[in-house]
Order: sequence, then C-alpha cells, then structure tokens
Amino acid sequence: MQISAAYIINKIEQAGVVGAGGAGFPSHAKLKQQVEVVIANGAECEPLLYSDNILLERHASQVIQGLLLIMTAASARQGIIAVKKKHNHLINHLQDQIKPFPQVSLFPLDDFYPAGDEHILINEVTGKRIPPGQLPFSVGILVNNVTTLYQAASAFAGEPVTSRYVTVTGEVRQPVVVDVPIGTPLSDLISAAGGSRLTDFRVIIGGPMMGQSVTDYRQEYTTKITSGIIVIPPDHFLITRTQIQPWQQLKRVQAACDNCRMCTDLCPRYLLGHPLEPHSTVRVLSQQQIEAGQHITSALLCCNCGICDTVACPCNLSPRALYQALRKELAQQKFPTPSFQSRPLPAERKQRRTPLSKLLQRLNMVKYAENKPIYLSSPLLPAKVLIKLKQHVGISAVPVVKMGDKVSKGCLAGQVPSDKLGAKVHVSINGTVSQVNVEFVEITSSIY
Ligand code: SF4
Ligand code: SF4
Repeated sequence: MQISAAYIINKIEQAGVVGAGGAGFPSHAKLKQQVEVVIANGAECEPLLYSDNILLERHASQVIQGLLLIMTAASARQGIIAVKKKHNHLINHLQDQIKPFPQVSLFPLDDFYPAGDEHILINEVTGKRIPPGQLPFSVGILVNNVTTLYQAASAFAGEPVTSRYVTVTGEVRQPVVVDVPIGTPLSDLISAAGGSRLTDFRVIIGGPMMGQSVTDYRQEYTTKITSGIIVIPPDHFLITRTQIQPWQQLKRVQAACDNCRMCTDLCPRYLLGHPLEPHSTVRVLSQQQIEAGQHITSALLCCNCGICDTVACPCNLSPRALYQALRKELAQQKFPTPSFQSRPLPAERKQRRTPLSKLLQRLNMVKYAENKPIYLSSPLLPAKVLIKLKQHVGISAVPVVKMGDKVSKGCLAGQVPSDKLGAKVHVSINGTVSQVNVEFVEITSSIY
C-alpha cells in the first residue's frame, strides 16, 4: 500500500517531532516543500557529544526507516546518511543496514568543525552551495538530524517524543550516554554519570562551541533538543567569557583589535563564499559606523559556530558576540533581510578548516575527549519531570492537563492550534500532574 505524504506529515505533527539537533524547528512544518535529496545529519560535529553516534549504533534501522518516510513525505529520490569517516565501525554497520535500499547511500565526512552546519554539510555531501541567507530547500535538499529521523519512525508507529539520548560528560566520574525522559532534572543526569569530580562546577547545555552555560543547573531540565551536558570548572574560559556584556565586548574590540583578519580567514561561512567578514564588521563598529551597511547586515549570515572567538582571535575578542548583538538589534528594528551575493569559493578553504583535534586543544578539553562516554543501558527514571511548553521554534503549546490529573507516558500535555507554527508536547513518565502554568507541566512519578 502506498503511504501518502499527508499521512506521514500528520503522524509527525501528532508526535511533536522537532529538529533534535538543536534547531527545534517543528519537523512537520519543514515538509511543506518537495526536494530531490534528504540528508540524514549524523555529523555530531560538536566535540565530546556521542548521543547521535550511539543512537546510530543501536537503532540504525529505525533511523533509515525515518529517512525513507521523510523522503516519501518530501517526494525525494535520494537519501544520504552523513557520518564522520573516523567512526569506521559505524560506517561498516550502516553499509550493511542500507543494502536493501538502493535509494540510500552513505557519505563519510572529514573530522572538522562545524561539519554539521547545514550550509557546510550540503556543500560537503553534494557540492552544492545554498545561496547566503537562504534555506536548504532552495537547492532541492532537506537536512534532518538522525535523532529526528529516529523520532519520525517512532511517530509513524504512533509513539510521540517522550525521551531522547543525552551525553553527560566533562568533570563527571563516568561520562555516559543515556536515554532520558524529556523534562529530566540535570542533577539526575549528573548523578547518572557518578556525580561530579568537582565540588564547585558549572554546566553547559549542548556542545562546548554552541551550547549555553546555565546559572543554576538545579533549576534546569532536559528538552527535546538537549543532546548533551558538559560539567566544567567555574573558572573555565567558556564560563568566564559569558560574564562579558556586549557593550564591554565592543569596548574591548575598539581597544584591542589589530585587524589581523584571522577571524575572517577561518570563518566557515566566509570560507563557503558568503559575504561575511567579521574583521570588517569589527573595524566599522570600532569606527562608530553603525548604519546598516553590508558589514552590519552580514551578521544575519553568521551561524554562531564560535570559530572566530574560540580558535581564531589572538586577542581573545568575540566577533560572534558582536554579531549576536547586531542580530538582536536588526530583529528589534524589524530590518528586512537583504539579498546577499555569493563570492567564489576561496581556494584555501579545505586547508583552513578547523580539525576537531585542534579545537579540543583550544577548548582545553582533550582530557574529557580521552574519557569516552559509555552507554548506560537502563533508562533514567526521574522522580519528577518538568516539561516545558516551548521547546521548539514557534508559539508555546497550551497545557491540556490540570493539577492532580493522573497521566501516563505518551499522553498529550500541551498542544498548539494546527494553523500556527509550533509543536505538541507529551507526558514523558507515568505519574500525577503536580504543577501546571503557561511555561511548563510538572509530573511527579508514580513509581516513587
Ligand atoms: S561565529 Fe564567527 S566564525 Fe562562526 S560564522 Fe559567525 S563570524 Fe564566522
Ligand atoms: S581575529 Fe581578533 S584581532 Fe584579528 S581582526 Fe578578528 S577580532 Fe580583530
């Protein structure tokens, strides 16, 4: 029996599937366009994270099934799974698994950062370039993270998104990857990794390059886009630099930038021929030229990868932070997105890529990388979960449960009107609703 695109898209919408790689874009809304190729993004390019890797090791067939479903929904002829070539065992395993599906192939990626960025990934895998400021479908391609594809396959079987794999690493006794109900307290994750080796520590949610440090990890809970957490000392530069405000960044740039242009020369988007030159933006800002010329609006092309401030700048300045501030300002002013022209690809592009080994040294995290996470086979069973009603791009879900309700894993906790961009959220453990408000639903487990 032929399965219709509408049927698959509806299943994905009902299950609340969103971009699990960090974007959180509702997956059903990405399926409005038809494309030629769907790429399964298994690059997992942030250092230290292994959640997608373990998922592919354990559930490759479901990921492939999800890829085939998305290909059907988007009328794509070809599916390509992109994983780092350093994972030999995974490549061999996937090669076996895709044999029955001639429309699916593998692409082994080099080990550089940010190989998983959609613009870079598409260029690596297909040789195509998305025009600057545009989306993958403009070149007939759709990119989905492998966890998203796994969840799409589960959605098709009627299972909503209630858990995901999360990596817990850094200053913990035993780094782990574990299946975690959505809304699990971060303190439970750290306990699952044997606790921290430090008495005082900070936590980054996500990878070290694009993740967010949190002020109090005891008040934080996992979401559909939490791929990992990293425990680090409070004096690590990834923590101390977050204490510098944007206006302080600007003052530091004015005082210290020697316009060496290293930030531009190593910027992955510049190396893809996008009209983005962080050193020029720094220069015009230092000269107080703040009208919205190209060096200001090019902030919209920055992918926030952090190469400029973590790897490139010899003066410890952050063009990335300036671009973040500029993007905020342009959004507040409702500045219309200009059209950007591509430049030719710089010839030195490949030589200037940042290898993961160099990145780990710059991050001072080699010792964490040497202590690879193990897979924890028993899923976490938290005493309570706090399920945020906005874990995605779009509007918040509206709760459909009330205090005291007895609920079971998989039932609906919040929904959005079908004509609005957003995603449903579901109860992730069996228990009783112990708090509800416009931001979250808290469930207390029935097994404690
Ligand atoms: S964060 Fe820096 S290196 Fe990365 S895209 Fe933006 S300007 Fe370029
Ligand atoms: S790398 Fe640093 S010092 Fe060099 S131009 Fe960029 S911001 Fe200025």
